[in-house]
Amino acid sequence: MTSSQSTDPTRAGNHFFSNYPAYSFWSAEQLPEVHKVLASTPASATPLILYVHIPFCRQRCEFCFYKVYTGKSSSEVRSYLDALLTELEAAVRAPYLQGRCPDYVYFGGGTPSYLSSDQLSELFAAIQTHMGWDGVKEVAFECEPGTVKEGKLQRLRDLGVTRLSLGVEHYDDEILEIAGRAHRQSEIYSAFEAARTAGFPQINVDLIAGMVGETDEGWQDCIDRTLALGPDSVTIYQMEVPHNTTIYRRMKEGDDEVAPVADWETKRRWVAAAFEAFEGAGFKVGSAYTAYRGEDTRFMYRDSLWHGADMLGVGVSSFSHLGGVHVQNHADLEDYQAPALAGEAPHWRAYAMNEDERWRRMFLLQLKLGQIDPGWFASNLGVNPAQEYASLLARHRAEGWVAEDAEMIRLTRAGLLRVDSLIAEYVPAEFRTSHVV
Ligand code: SF4
Repeated sequence: MTSSQSTDPTRAGNHFFSNYPAYSFWSAEQLPEVHKVLASTPASATPLILYVHIPFCRQRCEFCFYKVYTGKSSSEVRSYLDALLTELEAAVRAPYLQGRCPDYVYFGGGTPSYLSSDQLSELFAAIQTHMGWDGVKEVAFECEPGTVKEGKLQRLRDLGVTRLSLGVEHYDDEILEIAGRAHRQSEIYSAFEAARTAGFPQINVDLIAGMVGETDEGWQDCIDRTLALGPDSVTIYQMEVPHNTTIYRRMKEGDDEVAPVADWETKRRWVAAAFEAFEGAGFKVGSAYTAYRGEDTRFMYRDSLWHGADMLGVGVSSFSHLGGVHVQNHADLEDYQAPALAGEAPHWRAYAMNEDERWRRMFLLQLKLGQIDPGWFASNLGVNPAQEYASLLARHRAEGWVAEDAEMIRLTRAGLLRVDSLIAEYVPAEFRTSHVV
């Protein structure tokens, strides 16, 4: 999608830019490159992120494009955790990872809070037998509001979680019902209150602009309720309809090409209104999707990843990024668990980036922050993106997406709100066919 098409109605497809080169360019033929990296020694200053993937959910949301599993028994969950921990134990024996302590840890899914309190305690303890923990600066944990009863949040805080992210998405029970969300408004309030009582340093609230059934009044209510709740940061996604979602299947059954959600112009207007309201309450806009209270509530995992940190991802379908090589685990539970339990790397596909691709990846991801320091690229990567992209930046400046700034590459608010469609234009032609999974 180009910026000139971005006023279109919402049509099926992934527009959210998540990685470069796109996953469709990764292949099993490149897996030997992963082995080479794992046998090498890392650059000493490279931070390390540990990503732990929990693929279970109470039910599948209509808009979800992840491969998630519902209705799994506790013994199936147990087998999965065994596989994940065996994978981690084997991975950290590699010279590239041996002895390294993660700087940032992220539990994502799926729904990590689907696990019971005791499973969480066992998981944290087992991870800490395989990796040092003393240098961990942030432990982020995704949470579905209806899954955190009976002291689970206090357990998570006691285990060291510092950033709790609550998947609120909306407060209106009818909209939550239409979206197939498992939680309801009352659970949002009880989860938030319990999270504050537990004493998390950061509580983030996730919202989605443009859910099916959304209206101007409904969205304003969503903003007002979030402000009243008082989180430390808010993350707002613009609803899209990837091809592998239930909404898309329904669209196809009805032979309809346009999704039953608001158009892009309306979604951007709603996010703009939310950002203005949060800025009015003292928040700063930190990226195309986030507003946060202060520097101590910046999302360190994201900033580190987008500035070139190594990331070890464990679990089904997880992504790792090690020494400039991307690798993804098998995306199917059975394909993943068999090798992982046998102590073999459960890798599916990989992509080894050259020097040019490495700096472009960081540039494209950092565009989502809304500002880029060309000096950082010059001193760390020996390239000046302001020169490399001079003509495209000049055009986007003329179109109003990039601000006049002699020092920084800075997006205007209008540019920031459409950043995913702008990024597509910065992707080199050979990788532009798709940034879809
Ligand atoms: S809770 Fe999240 S991961 Fe689970 S089905 Fe819903 S959107 Fe997907």
